[in-house]
Amino acid sequence: MSEIKTKCLIIGSGPAGYTAALYTSRANIGPLLYEGHQPGGQLTITTEVENFPGYPEGTTGTQLMDDIRRQAIRFGADVRQGLITKIDLSKRPFTALTDGGDTIEADSVIISTGASAKFLGLPDEKKYMGLGVSACATCDGFFYRRKRVAVVGGGDTACEEALYLSNIAAEVFMIVRKDYLRASKVMQQRVLDKPNITVLFNTNTVGLYGDEFLQGAHLVEEKGTEREQHFDLEIDGFFLAIGHKPNTDLLEGQIELDEAGYIVTRDHSTATNIPGVFAAGDVADPHYRQAITAAGSGCKAALDVERFLAL
Ligand code: NDP
Repeated sequence: MSEIKTKCLIIGSGPAGYTAALYTSRANIGPLLYEGHQPGGQLTITTEVENFPGYPEGTTGTQLMDDIRRQAIRFGADVRQGLITKIDLSKRPFTALTDGGDTIEADSVIISTGASAKFLGLPDEKKYMGLGVSACATCDGFFYRRKRVAVVGGGDTACEEALYLSNIAAEVFMIVRKDYLRASKVMQQRVLDKPNITVLFNTNTVGLYGDEFLQGAHLVEEKGTEREQHFDLEIDGFFLAIGHKPNTDLLEGQIELDEAGYIVTRDHSTATNIPGVFAAGDVADPHYRQAITAAGSGCKAALDVERFLAL
């Protein structure tokens, strides 16, 4: 157990955190980064990454994260495995506690703890993760060219994912638990106008099946009513789009969050309502959620920290 002082503590290790570490280390700030539960973040649960600029042949999420991590370490970033279990943002220097019992004093903090896709909670979702189950159509849709896929959810994200997939896959099913779509009218219309998207209303998923790879979903229509009907849908891909949960539990009550729990940033920067605390990546972005946008905001957070420390 030790007491560590740093000019910049970075919490979280996706593209935002590692890029923030790369930029702050090159600015001689000597950042300290804690990687959290899932070093590399959400990208490490996808398969290939083909849309990150600079990789003409594509790469894997794990490789991409390892590349940025090593790039940051090369310039002196102190990257540590472990969790920040407590943080006090009420006064400067900010103080934090790690799961290893170390205490940290930091002049500035970059929060890049990301967001986690919500899952239905079916045991089969984990079993087929990366083998047919995905929570990101932009990341994995390409692998379903001319195949049959389903998207779960009826919000804007689900409609966007279904529309994206409809240009790649042969057939797209939307599995919607209510008898209406929650998405905005314009998105609903776009979905309904697409000939290769079929919306299955009043339908719940109760299981998935397949040998090595996913081959289908067990569905129930009109669950709990006299008209309840069980049927199987043959699909190659099952995309979850029932919302994301930003990883902000650690910060609750300490920093301004929006109604969905995302950190609110201001003035087109990564600044939060607390001077010296910055937010980058999906934890502050319900909208774009791409590796490249997260990396870009990690860069912005590092530049914001640099300016803040120079004041
Ligand atoms: P939403 O919360 O809007 O929608 C989630 C959808 O998933 C709902 O249809 C919900 O059903 C369904 N759902 C939730 N839990 C389950 C479950 N356990 N089983 C089955 N279905 C479930 O989330 P989104 O990610 O779609 O959107 C989040 C926010 O981001 C929204 O404000 C949205 O407007 C915005 N957004 C805007 C976009 C744009 O403008 N282009 C693009 C993407 C998102 P139910 O309706 O029954 O609750």
